[in-house]
Amino acid sequence: MTEPPLLLIPGPVQTHPRVKATMAQDIAPWDNDTRTRYAALRERLRAIAGGIEGEHVCLPLQGCGHFIVEAALRTFVAPGTKVLIPNNGNYGTRMIRLAREAGRVAVAIEIPEGELATAQMVEKALAEDPSIGTVAVVHSETSTSVINPVEEIAAAVRAAGRRLIVDAVSAFGAIPFDLGAHPETDAIVFSSNKCLEAMPGIGVAVARVDRLEACRGNAGSWSLDLSDLLHHARSYGWGSIRFTPPIQSLAALEVALELFEAEGGQPARLARYTENARILYDGLAALGLTPWVPRDRQGPIIVTMHQPPDQAFALQPFVDALKRRGFLISNFSTTSVPTFRVGAIGHLFPDDMRRATAAIADTLEEMGVRHLARAPLAA
Ligand SMILES: *Cc1c(COP(=O)(O)O)cnc(C)c1O
Repeated sequence: MTEPPLLLIPGPVQTHPRVKATMAQDIAPWDNDTRTRYAALRERLRAIAGGIEGEHVCLPLQGCGHFIVEAALRTFVAPGTKVLIPNNGNYGTRMIRLAREAGRVAVAIEIPEGELATAQMVEKALAEDPSIGTVAVVHSETSTSVINPVEEIAAAVRAAGRRLIVDAVSAFGAIPFDLGAHPETDAIVFSSNKCLEAMPGIGVAVARVDRLEACRGNAGSWSLDLSDLLHHARSYGWGSIRFTPPIQSLAALEVALELFEAEGGQPARLARYTENARILYDGLAALGLTPWVPRDRQGPIIVTMHQPPDQAFALQPFVDALKRRGFLISNFSTTSVPTFRVGAIGHLFPDDMRRATAAIADTLEEMGVRHLARAPLAA
């Protein structure tokens, strides 16, 4: 059998062989050994989030990123009340839909795709509408590569006396946000399979105990009720898992956290991803491709390039030809104009990025693509 290609996608990401190997076992979720390990795993995740013991709790939930984002919106925003959502890409748009379909009133700040959500925008919107109780913001807008200034937005929310939910699904573990320094934040949410480099199947909220208590009864969904997860833990113990969990994914997450800590935690991971993204950005730009965002807005999670405006280029054949060279990228574009994106996260290193850049050059050459540059960058 040939080696499977390396995943250069923003989740589920390439994982360490030990993380994969851990999946190959049968595990009983309620077994006392499992319970001890699960309770410890929750504490480790709370600590990575900067959560304070007694003030914050870690609430893992079966499912993917969307599920935990929806659970946070349902739990902390009461039905029929307003949540302000800065929208500068696909994941902002998705939060708006999750909130609306759950019967919450999503008030969008529409921001041109690829630009930043700013604290000033949030401050203004909150001043104009005192009935907005909560702001929900995407930390790393995975569809466009930009990192929203969540620290500054959080300060504006705190000054206005409102509450904050942070969708850190593609940021957590790499881009810092210290929950302990953010009393205005009800919850930070993330998933197992992005910067933590584990397997898919688990969404996680690290949330405030006082707010979970105050928000009991909001969710309107037993499955997606974070307050009920706290209640369950208090009733049955912190090692108890409500409903059947993807238990092998939890075991893999344990190993992934060991590797995370051995690497040097969040600062080391950020440094590796930043270098990965820099090599991709510079390397692909040097081939003549046009980056989707200017360098000062390029985050460390993915690199997005305009598709070459050449008749010989088509995304799926490009993806297929690149896969034959050992690298798999997404076969869809998440921006309003045609782009392709290359993930910088996962168990991947600068040498992988150099080889991927060379493989992209070879692939474009093989396809006979000559015109690589798109329009000049927006100012
Ligand atoms: C990936 C992602 C999600 C959704 O995660 P799924 O696991 O695909 O449901 C939500 N928000 C952001 C910012 C993401 O990058």
